[in-house]
Amino acid sequence: MSLTPDQLAEIDAQRSTHQTTLRATSAGMEARLYQAHPVLDHGLIRVIDYMGDDAAICQAARVSYGRGTKAVSDDRGLIRYLMRHWHSTPFEMCEVKFHVKLPIFVARQWIRHRTANVNEYSARYSVMDREFYIPAPEHLAAQSVVNNQGRGQVLQGAEAARVLDLLREDAMRAYDHYEDMLTPDADTGKLGLARELARMNLPANVYTQWYWKIDLHNLFHFLRLRADVHAQYEIRVYAQIMGDIVKDWVPQAYEAFEDYRLGAVSVSAKAKEVLKRRLKGEIVTEANSGMSKGEWREFVEEWG
Ligand SMILES: Cc1cc2nc3c(=O)[nH]c(=O)nc-3n(C[C@H](O)[C@H](O)[C@H](O)COP(=O)(O)OP(=O)(O)OC[C@H]3O[C@@H](n4cnc5c(N)ncnc54)[C@H](O)[C@@H]3O)c2cc1C
Repeated sequence: MSLTPDQLAEIDAQRSTHQTTLRATSAGMEARLYQAHPVLDHGLIRVIDYMGDDAAICQAARVSYGRGTKAVSDDRGLIRYLMRHWHSTPFEMCEVKFHVKLPIFVARQWIRHRTANVNEYSARYSVMDREFYIPAPEHLAAQSVVNNQGRGQVLQGAEAARVLDLLREDAMRAYDHYEDMLTPDADTGKLGLARELARMNLPANVYTQWYWKIDLHNLFHFLRLRADVHAQYEIRVYAQIMGDIVKDWVPQAYEAFEDYRLGAVSVSAKAKEVLKRRLKGEIVTEANSGMSKGEWREFVEEWG
């Protein structure tokens, strides 16, 4: 992450300005507010604003006149009940706004989550920075031979060096051309190309930035998909940091999310039957399970 001294000073200034409020605040989230957490080589994520806390979830669930908080243990039980039974709207009462700096190919996966409000840095209006994601050598892996959407062994030696050279050279050449196209020619009096067109040649590993606002229910959905091992590493690292932030913000809700979503497994009706038969001591194989090959493979991966 490369923040300029001015940007760091702006963050410090925001963190040193204190407001008084009647609204609920979360001590864990106050500690996170505005701080930039580095991600990948030039990326960052930071919380710009938030609304609500664990008690706000209970307040909404009980449709209370006041804070709606009972004993901490009662609130924890209620939050776990809500999460367990997919009673999701109380979680939508909490909101969070992030500032994210991320490579465009990560942004393409991220933007598929349609339930957020987004405002992105405009490359029509502003000039893009010369910042490109170049994977660390340990993340430079070959195509997986078992998973079409995954990575295999890490590239080594000359092969890895060649890939890194290509990535760097292509990025720098594309950016040089981008600058050339933008720059007016003083000798000939020719105008530079419009920013909205010159950006066309920038590769998908160039960094963009956005403000991204979402409610807690939909953020949990995002985290379940993107903090998962099946998600691409480059988006997963963002999701993992967001998970840590959410844990500090709404610890009871996050605990319930970890238990009933992140660490949970959904079981099909067929799989439930197989588990019951196994518990009774029956030997169930793929052939007599009633499952497809793929279903059986995933079942065995989970349950042995
Ligand atoms: C590991 C992985 C691999 C993927 N691979 C591909 C791929 O190869 N190609 C590809 O195109 N995408 C791919 N995706 C993206 C995926 O298909 C979803 O688009 C993405 O995860 C967003 O999920 P979502 O629609 O549930 O989320 P959101 O857009 O946040 O929506 C949340 C929920 O709101 C509801 N919702 C939102 N908008 C609508 C709507 N318009 N109509 C009905 N219900 C709505 C749905 O219930 C939805 O689940 C992949 C995602 C993952 C995690």
